[in-house]
Amino acid sequence: METYDPKAIEAKWQRVWEDARAFYAEDPPPGEEPDGKFYMLEMLPYPSGNLHMGHVLNYTLGDVLTHFHRRHGQDVLRPMGWDSFGLPAENAAIREGGHPREITERNIVNIERQMRRLGWAIDWDRVIAAHDPDYYRWTQWLFLRFLERDLAYRKAAFVNWCPHDQTVLANEQVIDGKCERCGTVVEARKLEQWFFKITAYADALLHDHALIDWPERTKTIQRNWIGRSEGAELLFRIDELDLDVPVFTTRADTVFGATLFVLAPEHPLVDEMIERSPNGEELRTYVSHALAKRGEQRAAAEEKTGVFTGFFATNPATEARIPVWVADYVLMEYGTGAIMAVPGHDERDREFADRFELPVVEVVDEEAGVLVDSAQFSGMKVEEAERAIVEWLGERGRGRPAVSFRLRDWGFSRQRYWGCPIPIVYCPSCGVVPVPDDELPVLLPEVEDYRPKGKPPLASNEDWLRAPCPKCGGEGRREADTMDTFVDSAWYFLRYTDAHNDREPFSRRLVDFWGPVDQYIGGIDHATGHLMYSRFFVKVLNELGMVGFREPFQRLFHQGWVRQGGTKMSKSRGNVTAPDQLAEMYGADAVRLYILFVGPADQDMDWTEEGIEGVGRFLRRLWRIVGAVVEAVEPEEDGDAGPLERKAHETIAKVTDDIGRRFVFNTPIAAVMELVNELGRDPSAPGARFAAETAVSLIQPYAPHIAEELWSALGHERLWEQPWPVADEGRLRRQTFELVLQVNGRVRDRVEASVDESEAELVARAKASSRVQQHLDDKEIRQTIVVPGKLVNIVV
Ligand SMILES: [Zn+2]
Ligand SMILES: [Zn+2]
Repeated sequence: METYDPKAIEAKWQRVWEDARAFYAEDPPPGEEPDGKFYMLEMLPYPSGNLHMGHVLNYTLGDVLTHFHRRHGQDVLRPMGWDSFGLPAENAAIREGGHPREITERNIVNIERQMRRLGWAIDWDRVIAAHDPDYYRWTQWLFLRFLERDLAYRKAAFVNWCPHDQTVLANEQVIDGKCERCGTVVEARKLEQWFFKITAYADALLHDHALIDWPERTKTIQRNWIGRSEGAELLFRIDELDLDVPVFTTRADTVFGATLFVLAPEHPLVDEMIERSPNGEELRTYVSHALAKRGEQRAAAEEKTGVFTGFFATNPATEARIPVWVADYVLMEYGTGAIMAVPGHDERDREFADRFELPVVEVVDEEAGVLVDSAQFSGMKVEEAERAIVEWLGERGRGRPAVSFRLRDWGFSRQRYWGCPIPIVYCPSCGVVPVPDDELPVLLPEVEDYRPKGKPPLASNEDWLRAPCPKCGGEGRREADTMDTFVDSAWYFLRYTDAHNDREPFSRRLVDFWGPVDQYIGGIDHATGHLMYSRFFVKVLNELGMVGFREPFQRLFHQGWVRQGGTKMSKSRGNVTAPDQLAEMYGADAVRLYILFVGPADQDMDWTEEGIEGVGRFLRRLWRIVGAVVEAVEPEEDGDAGPLERKAHETIAKVTDDIGRRFVFNTPIAAVMELVNELGRDPSAPGARFAAETAVSLIQPYAPHIAEELWSALGHERLWEQPWPVADEGRLRRQTFELVLQVNGRVRDRVEASVDESEAELVARAKASSRVQQHLDDKEIRQTIVVPGKLVNIVV
């Protein structure tokens, strides 16, 4: 055979596959029952310009599973698309100084070329792009369905504002009080915003964890984010405002010790208190400072701060009038944004009370776990008291059992240009009017100056902004905010099932055939964002009768992070990090194989150029050894094909189990390497041809180009369609027998041994037995007698 030339054979097979439409999924004809489908999906990339090794890991993993399931006879759907709207694309455009559309589309061309260069088995017929009007028309259409069911609504709210990106962020996009994108400290701003009512599904999002096979830690992250807690809602009356203000507490048993009432600075009552309070100015100053800080930052502050409002609330249990304070250690995101402070039994309330010399009353004997100084409830156990107090307050209309969630509705308005327009017209006489379905899409206009400027860039585009009211025909104005790009990605996996449908986002028949996604792969950093939003969308669409399932992603895998270790590489070679450049140097197969060989795919990994060179050497050896097998004349088999064939069957069993059941991707490569090593010792040994075919067949999901070429050399065709090899159980079990171990002729132990073992190995087994050792007792061994297949006798 000729020498191994990865570049030539990779280009050749990529052409063959494309011409054969090898990896394009066929939709079933109407009326046909689903039969072994497998929907394989990795999170879609945003077209930032270049693939990086993290992408290579993600999509090669998906590729191995794609081939694995295809060759198990399943119809596999494995599409690709572009998360092309949103901040990353727009920020890239600002950085590079061009128009987001231009830059996005240029990047898409480049990233697709790189993906094709790596030979991934992708159905390129179903590509979607978030910024394509054929796609975002349906994003708008879905928004209108949510709006009809009051699952999308508009309200004024304090939102996370990134002063650098000049836009609102979802809670999920704020990490430790900072913008996830640029790290700027986020501010609170009160703005009219669009929200999705994801909180209506808080319980369903928790319960339906039972339906999906996800990593436990991901479910835990979501569970904590949703933050369900059971407790009670108690009403505190503020007479001066003629209002009952609810608080949520999990410690109703301590209500007799509630000596003050504290509001978050964002609480809706605060504005009115500022107007009416004698120390309104002090309050106003405090609140505006507090709003400039954000959640976690505030909660973690060393010293508690706050201002007395001048108002009093009535404790529903003691009927005492307790002072109402505003303090920024109370967060609007938790409970109702108001708390009954119990300095006697809550650490943070205690710090606050100490700081301002406010009364501390103890109402639970913490040691005994019983209530004290709590009227008729004194002496009761805490749990019992909690129930009794809520019931008692309930009878007086001052309380009820309640459940509180940490989860908040998803604010999705963005004051940015590069996003999906929200199909709404504001009419002076009709109010908020949805754009009718048959006028979709509301196209994103081309604008010169798309840069963020605090107000939405679309708001300065008068021509586009003015639109007739769909209801009365009068002059209205369009919504100038655009949608968070996470709206685009909350349903894209459904569109792939019917990507060219121009009558509806997807047909029920096809979405139910392919959906839900059987295996999803992506970063755990999306646990509270994309993964939660997608689950929410699918639940709503299920209720709308558009999909027949309630969960989008049946099984989920998180790949680790790929770091580039070692400085040697960048010094000696220049910074050769782009996967397509590595593919040019080593071949796509080497890049693919290496990224899965370097370590377990779910753990962080360092990759080095030395490593990829090692994998390249393996591929050249595979090439050479299979070539030698092709040229060798295999001896006639005499029924016992020998150790090589058995090794091949063992390798099949291991690789199949690792990929299919254990979901481990590096060990199968090592197993094939081992098989190739054994084969290399004698390429004309009995069973060599079978072992070579097996090695090539098993490595195909990882290194499909070289595998295909060697498969042809072995005289076969179309490996990508060949059934996955099956291990012959009979050949797997090494033949064993019970070896009897004797000392001085008396049986001391019995162990299992293989017929292949040499006499020396059998003696070693005898000496390793602890029961035999007891009788050897450091005595001198005079003789060892071995009866092959039966026993070892040691004479001392
Ligand atoms: Zn930012
Ligand atoms: Zn109107």
